[in-house]
Amino acid sequence: MVTTSSQRRISWWGALLLLVAGAIGLPGRIAAAEPARGALVDVGRLEATARRAGLRIVTGKRLVLVTDRPARDGDGVDDLPRIFDEAFATWCDHYAIDPQTVPAWRACGCLMSDREPFRAAGLLPVDGTIPDFANGFCDRNRFWLVDPPNPAYRRHLLLHEGVHAFTLTLRALATPTWYTEGIAELLATHRLEAGHFLPTPIPRRADDVEQLGRIEAIRRLRASGEIPGLADVFATPPSPRHDIPAYAASWAATALLAGHPSHAEGFRVLESGPLDARLTARLEGSAGWDGDLAARDFDAFTDDLDHGYDFDRSAIEWIDGRPLTRRATCFVAANRGWQPSGSSLEAGETAELVASGRAGVGRAGAIDLESTADGISLRWYRGRPLGRLLVAQWAVPVEGGRPRFVVVAEGAAARFTAIAAGGLYLKLNAPPGELAGFDGGLDVGLSPVAAPAPQRRRGEVR
Ligand SMILES: [Zn+2]
Repeated sequence: MVTTSSQRRISWWGALLLLVAGAIGLPGRIAAAEPARGALVDVGRLEATARRAGLRIVTGKRLVLVTDRPARDGDGVDDLPRIFDEAFATWCDHYAIDPQTVPAWRACGCLMSDREPFRAAGLLPVDGTIPDFANGFCDRNRFWLVDPPNPAYRRHLLLHEGVHAFTLTLRALATPTWYTEGIAELLATHRLEAGHFLPTPIPRRADDVEQLGRIEAIRRLRASGEIPGLADVFATPPSPRHDIPAYAASWAATALLAGHPSHAEGFRVLESGPLDARLTARLEGSAGWDGDLAARDFDAFTDDLDHGYDFDRSAIEWIDGRPLTRRATCFVAANRGWQPSGSSLEAGETAELVASGRAGVGRAGAIDLESTADGISLRWYRGRPLGRLLVAQWAVPVEGGRPRFVVVAEGAAARFTAIAAGGLYLKLNAPPGELAGFDGGLDVGLSPVAAPAPQRRRGEVR
């Protein structure tokens, strides 16, 4: 979380930064200038204050962390500045900033079990210059966070506020809430590999991000029909509280824009420009932006989202295809998400599905799992057997909410009726994060079923 007042204070800084970058003209990297007076808080002074107050201080190259937590073996707090330094390098990469050009940049973070010692030391203002925050707050390159009990979530919150400090001071960020919070969530999400920071914009496993719950929040919003569309996310109001559904949706929007093959390049160009209040308008006015496509891709993303979601395998080719007037065949790859069949139906039309073949659907221990179109009963996902062939149409579900893929047929053989006018899309039922381990696919035949002629209806009175 950040304030607009602190954004305003430093809003001239980005313009200067871009001028400097433009003048130096480094290929693909912004040469940021060293902090100007007033743009940054004096971290050395804060560190000295903390030392006088007897608070515990752990430092790295880019972070001075002050805490009232007692030193305890194995709590991971001593590692936080090093992990922050590793994350800092990733943030520099994301924004194409050469870290060599900001050698003196440091942040000061206060990790607080109890706010009182920080107030008493003068490290937590009581003069109303910062709001009463729930989890964390950032002002330029200093931030505060309320210490959560979970180490993974503590790291996440620290890095979330760290991204704010980074973007506020080095990119003069003053953007709409969805980007401010979304990018902080996106660039903070990580796992530790051999103790080192590894960015995972979309968490690979729930265990990596205990207590974070972003994916779970999106799925709850989907289940309750309250999931926002992309336009709703863009209109997210600022909030002084850490609003989990709003943060989760903002994270999902930035994850889509930064990761989806249809949107990533445009978003990268957008992020290389000013991060100001007009960011959304600039995105929507940019060359190549297709708002309807982005909205649909966002709905498809929030519909299918799960740990390890892989845009390259799950991005959808939106092709309605030809009307199904005679038998048509297609191949459904096991290692991809929803795929167009190439055939479409009108609402109320009936068709038949027949599928054959076998697909590799991962492993169980040392055993390669193979599935037919009916799926395997050994393991279920989202209420259906793993590997089961699903046929769906893109529609608003009967229970309401945002559009999604509504399954109209499944398994090796089925007769079904179209619920909407439009294309038939197919996939094998599977967690999207496991598709890389799947191979092969199924051959699918789709045939129209002629509606019975009225005079042949059984029981009809003539
Ligand atoms: Zn925040």
